[in-house]
Amino acid sequence: MAIGDELVTGQTVDTNSAWLAEQVRVRGARVRRLVVVGDDVEQIAGVFRQGLDQADWVIATGGLGPTADDLTRAGIARAIGVKLEESREALGRIEAFFERWQRPMPAGNRLQALLPGSCAVVPNPRGTAPGVWYRGPRSQLVALPGVPGEMKAMFADSVAASLGAAASGRVGVVRRVNTFGLPEAVVGEAIADLMVRARNPAVGTTASGGVISIRVVGAADSAAEAEALVAADVAEVRQRLGSVVFGDGDEALEHAVARLLMAAGKTVATAESCTGGLLAKTLTDVPGSSAYFIQGYITYSNRAKTALLGVPADLLELHGAVSGEVAEAMARGCRAAAGTDFALATTGIAGPDGGRPPERPVGLVYVALADAAGVRVERLLLGAHLSRAEIRDRAAKVARNMLRLSLLGWPAA
Ligand code: ATP
Ligand code: MG
Repeated sequence: MAIGDELVTGQTVDTNSAWLAEQVRVRGARVRRLVVVGDDVEQIAGVFRQGLDQADWVIATGGLGPTADDLTRAGIARAIGVKLEESREALGRIEAFFERWQRPMPAGNRLQALLPGSCAVVPNPRGTAPGVWYRGPRSQLVALPGVPGEMKAMFADSVAASLGAAASGRVGVVRRVNTFGLPEAVVGEAIADLMVRARNPAVGTTASGGVISIRVVGAADSAAEAEALVAADVAEVRQRLGSVVFGDGDEALEHAVARLLMAAGKTVATAESCTGGLLAKTLTDVPGSSAYFIQGYITYSNRAKTALLGVPADLLELHGAVSGEVAEAMARGCRAAAGTDFALATTGIAGPDGGRPPERPVGLVYVALADAAGVRVERLLLGAHLSRAEIRDRAAKVARNMLRLSLLGWPAA
């Protein structure tokens, strides 16, 4: 259950529930419902009562702060029919938090020590809001703060183990394999037989920003068995999809590129028009990127392309800035100027205006990669249905992926 007016008004997206649902599932318990409720004590108490009635566990996030609109404590008290009482333990923890950071404690924070009677305190290592744990005759209720970092730390420290022990005893394992370069339908076809319903592990695909991820979720009586089941499927998926797979878990394209560049001891520079620095930004998002990233040019105007990268003015005149010829000249000029092993260049129409269909629609982008062997250019039609931000993001991803494939020696797809 996620609590907060900002959630029901759509100002904040409820990511806490998604995270918790996965945590619950991998511990072998089944999530029956996810509920979002505003800051209304009657609503909160009502959902708590229902939850305690219908489930073994109720886990709530949000509404534990020190202000008048934080009503989770009052909602629990009403649901289980007790009064709020100042908890000495909670107050001690809140005071200790302020002491540790040598800050005076605002009077309002004392409210956070008012807990429903007969409930235990869930320590919060990262903030002032103590969590609340009610152990009822049949079911239990745990309320955690809404701030995701606090909620996750408290769940891991205090809740996960008991929940796991209370659940079926089956252990779940989730792994993700990330791909770039094939449409979701094609990825799905390649692994269709693994994706049949009610199979263990369960295999499914999700698409986000052009990255298609394959999730493998397995359950078994022990962690080792579950790991083995999932590992076998992950290996099969990787084998079938080959070089479109770039990483696992939270790994992004830039991490794969960084790993390969560092292993090879190679360097890269960038020359960007339509991506406006995004490519350099993402390549340097990885810690340690100074080992391979030398410099980047943002050459938005024709004059800059000529002055900084040596793109001939008559080439720009003849083909236009958005052309394969100019992308190639940008990459070549960038590599020479920066003295790197690789240079990546982008030029395109990010939109929403400036397209001239059919030859030059919004979403037309050229990406070039220069290395010792020469220059390779790709022409992309990313589609005018994408937003400006999406077109720039996709173009920068294609550039990173080209570099990745080049470092792998252009394996056959
Ligand atoms: P605090 O003691 O820090 O005030 P709280 O329990 O009162 O904690 P809220 O005030 O409900 O928490 O939320 C604090 C912030 O945490 C929100 O502004 C929001 O950014 C984030 N947050 C709250 N609930 C969720 C949720 N379900 N999913 C994602 N983020 C959330
Ligand atoms: Mg709050």
